[in-house]
Amino acid sequence: MFRFAVLLTSLLYSIELAHGAAVSGNSAACSSLNRLLPGKVAFPGSAQYVSDNEHWASSSSQPSTCTVEPSTPQDVATIFGVVNQTRSEWAVKGGGHAFNPGFSSTPGVMVSLAQFKAINYNASSSSVEVGGGNIWDDVYAKLDPFGVTVVGGRVPGVGVGGFTLGGGYSWKTQKYGLACDNVIAFNLVTPTSQILTVTAQSHPDLFFGLKGGGNNFGIVTSFVLKTRPQGQVWGGTITWNGVIPAIQDAFVNFALTNNDPNAYFLAIYIVQEGNISTDAILFYDAPQPPNGTYDVLLNTPGFTSKNIGTRSFPDFVQNFFVPVATRQASHVVPVIGYTQKIVQTMVDQVQDLATLGLTTAPTDFTMFTLEPLHKDLYDAATNSAYPHTPAHPWTPMNVAIAFSNPALDNAAFAAAKKSAGIIQQVAIQEGQSSSDAILYPNYAGPLSDSKLIFGANLPLLQKIQAQTDPFNLVNLTTGFKFN
Ligand SMILES: Cc1cc2nc3c(=O)[nH]c(=O)nc-3n(C[C@H](O)[C@H](O)[C@H](O)COP(=O)(O)OP(=O)(O)OC[C@H]3O[C@@H](n4cnc5c(N)ncnc54)[C@H](O)[C@@H]3O)c2cc1C
Repeated sequence: MFRFAVLLTSLLYSIELAHGAAVSGNSAACSSLNRLLPGKVAFPGSAQYVSDNEHWASSSSQPSTCTVEPSTPQDVATIFGVVNQTRSEWAVKGGGHAFNPGFSSTPGVMVSLAQFKAINYNASSSSVEVGGGNIWDDVYAKLDPFGVTVVGGRVPGVGVGGFTLGGGYSWKTQKYGLACDNVIAFNLVTPTSQILTVTAQSHPDLFFGLKGGGNNFGIVTSFVLKTRPQGQVWGGTITWNGVIPAIQDAFVNFALTNNDPNAYFLAIYIVQEGNISTDAILFYDAPQPPNGTYDVLLNTPGFTSKNIGTRSFPDFVQNFFVPVATRQASHVVPVIGYTQKIVQTMVDQVQDLATLGLTTAPTDFTMFTLEPLHKDLYDAATNSAYPHTPAHPWTPMNVAIAFSNPALDNAAFAAAKKSAGIIQQVAIQEGQSSSDAILYPNYAGPLSDSKLIFGANLPLLQKIQAQTDPFNLVNLTTGFKFN
């Protein structure tokens, strides 16, 4: 099968050479693809080219030589055949929400999964097959009439592909683990143009590798996911200007004592135009929370907005206001729990970062998201490329700088990493982190060491990648690599 796939794509490309195309590089790949996949390839100046290269953060975009929208796994196999023959650079984009430059963009062949939008629910197997080009919003909306949902993104717009292949922390994670723990099958096209259905039984190594291994094993055209029961939920956001001691205390208390896997409380500190504000994001996975769970938050006066209520799960997610990012520098602090000293350091750091001259436009901001999680999440954790078992008990706290000036990219990435490092040192002193703590790949900045992303899994992942990708095509795209 492997040899047949390689032979077929090589044959197609050889026929293509007979038509006079150049032999290597990005332009050669684009002109070949334009002939092999007519109507699916776009060049600068077209609307498809613009939308295929677009991302949530402008720092994650770059001009490609061409873009291509495959619509079948066979098309993806053809693309890998051409990439192999031309050694062109390439990237694949799902929902386009990568924080890091180049992770889903390229100067070469930009593969957009925009045509993989099918969502097929199977009630009898409690599963749904979701095309790799979907965002979670559409999956939730499709499943809502059936009273089910999936373990997916927490705010609007995030893609199924990158989220799941990087791990995926969800509103359902305390009960069901990460998104990657809820995958039944990956429909994968490997870099050798093999079209595989990867399950725990059929390809145990690849199945393990795809759960956190990102774009290192090829392109996933669809995901078969477990569905979970879903009724109405309670929650929303309360915002206060400034840092409110009662809210900070309530957060630390909740993070230390919450024993209810239905209850979430995320704290967000944002500094914009010199002013800090505090958001309490509340979620309860039932129409009403038990008395007492959120009393302090609901009764603390002085809020500037409060949008709490009972609603459907898709409405709850849609209700979030996501600040528009321009350029984005992100990093992660891996913590076990949140003490007063750790939270105070975070509050100090989010303000210090705002004084470095990086956030110069009125729309720029620094933002830290504190995401305590109940240890029940490990009950559903599976053996994955991204280690998240009780032996790896760190949950991610996100450090973000949204800025406008491209000349500040390197300074912003370095600043986000430095700030995260300062907080992590305090967390280590408080017994809540360690110097070898695993970094969550979907939040970790581009300067992160892969050893800290994949930990002791790295040698096995290198072996699986070498077997799946003998021509090393995944090193022609960017992401956290295994070598
Ligand atoms: C506003 C916002 C909110 C977020 N909220 C959360 C959250 O609640 N929880 C959380 O865990 N994370 C969250 N994230 C982080 C998010 O999980 C990552 O940014 C994720 O990578 C986005 O996936 P995507 O498909 O949208 O991005 P893309 O930019 O399309 O892809 C990200 C990476 O995955 C690869 N990839 C994507 N699809 C495929 C595929 N089908 N096959 C192979 N490789 C693929 C790309 O090549 C790229 O390297 C958030 C990010 C943003 C910007």
